Amino acid sequence: MAKANENFNRLKESYLFIEISEKIGEFVKNNPGKPLIKMGIGDVTRPLAPVVVEAMKNAAEEMGVAETFRGYEDTGRGYLFLREAVAGYYSAMGVTIEPDEILISDGAKSDCGNLSDIFSDDNVVLVTDPVYPVYNDANLMGGRQVVFLNSNIENSFAATPDESLKADIIYICSPNNPTGAAYTTEQLKKWVDYALKNNAVIVYDAAYEAFIQDDELPRSIYQIDGAEKCAIEVCSLSKTAGFTGTRCGYTVVPELLELELKDGTKTTAQKLWRRRQSTKFNGVSYPVQRAAQAVFSEEGQKQVRDTIAYYQNNAKIITSTFDKLGITYTGGKNSPYVWFKCPGTMSDREFFDYMLKTIQVVGTPGSGFGKNGEGWFRLTSFNTAENTTEAMKRFEKMYEQF
Ligand code: PLP
Repeated sequence: MAKANENFNRLKESYLFIEISEKIGEFVKNNPGKPLIKMGIGDVTRPLAPVVVEAMKNAAEEMGVAETFRGYEDTGRGYLFLREAVAGYYSAMGVTIEPDEILISDGAKSDCGNLSDIFSDDNVVLVTDPVYPVYNDANLMGGRQVVFLNSNIENSFAATPDESLKADIIYICSPNNPTGAAYTTEQLKKWVDYALKNNAVIVYDAAYEAFIQDDELPRSIYQIDGAEKCAIEVCSLSKTAGFTGTRCGYTVVPELLELELKDGTKTTAQKLWRRRQSTKFNGVSYPVQRAAQAVFSEEGQKQVRDTIAYYQNNAKIITSTFDKLGITYTGGKNSPYVWFKCPGTMSDREFFDYMLKTIQVVGTPGSGFGKNGEGWFRLTSFNTAENTTEAMKRFEKMYEQF
């Protein structure tokens, strides 16, 4: 009989999230007159920008005409028109990335997970706790050792390396899901310096970079000197341009990033990633790549920025309420997520139940993201402005009891 990959036994079932959805289902069934406001949503809700829809329609028309029909894309790395558009986006940030260093994908989740294919199984992988689960789970499936670095209120949920740290591959997410914390240039430099000194590789998940409002915060790890020798950057149009259901992302693998082979010789991460993708991936559809290109046009940027501003305004509604109530939180300003301390000694699970029963507002208990999430809670800005305002009104009233 075929043998199963035993590494799957190392994965923890997300009982908390299953429990939550059961509780919500039960509440809705028993309380038909009490509609819920869902503030746990990690998905975008606003429609695609008109310029994006137009580009997708035009490309679909092209596919219906023999002269402009397209089959497999030759390189599998993404059409040059899109890789050039992404390179232009970096250039506007003051970062030089060649189109050849960019690979288009169907999103950041798959790339964050699949990148583990290019690394040897005996690497030690570091993730922060709390964490977006993909980094951990993908490496557990691959049989690698995963170690956790505490991200907590003492370091403002922006953990940096210390001398005792031993890791070969480091996953960093900034702005962070779930905590909303964004690394400063100085903090990110500590990671780049650590990676350069220890020949480690950083996999930098910049899926939320477009939410950064503070001009002095880095939006790409390549804004830090030396990162082109030690970092891979994974990015996505999911949150930037509402592509969660359209699917398109990009990963930058710099030419200068080297990996060591057992015999002491070197190869490049780019060579391996291209090989990996050409073996297991056949590219993103032409209409979607045209839609993605439109995101980077001048009009596209204007339209997607309007949508991001809508979510940022929702985040502001949440953080203003928290400021007024004196609640300890991170995120909100440079992230669609607001991460806050549950009242008193209440656990995050108890707080979930309490909010559901008293104000019918649903969020995400922090312990679902790791042990440092215990006693913390995540709300998101992806609901409507009306619902966010109503939720915060109820929230404020509820806090009169604490
Ligand atoms: N990275 C982070 C940190 C996320 O929170 C998410 C989605 O919530 C993703 C990646 C997934 O992005 P994509 O939709 O491009 O796969």
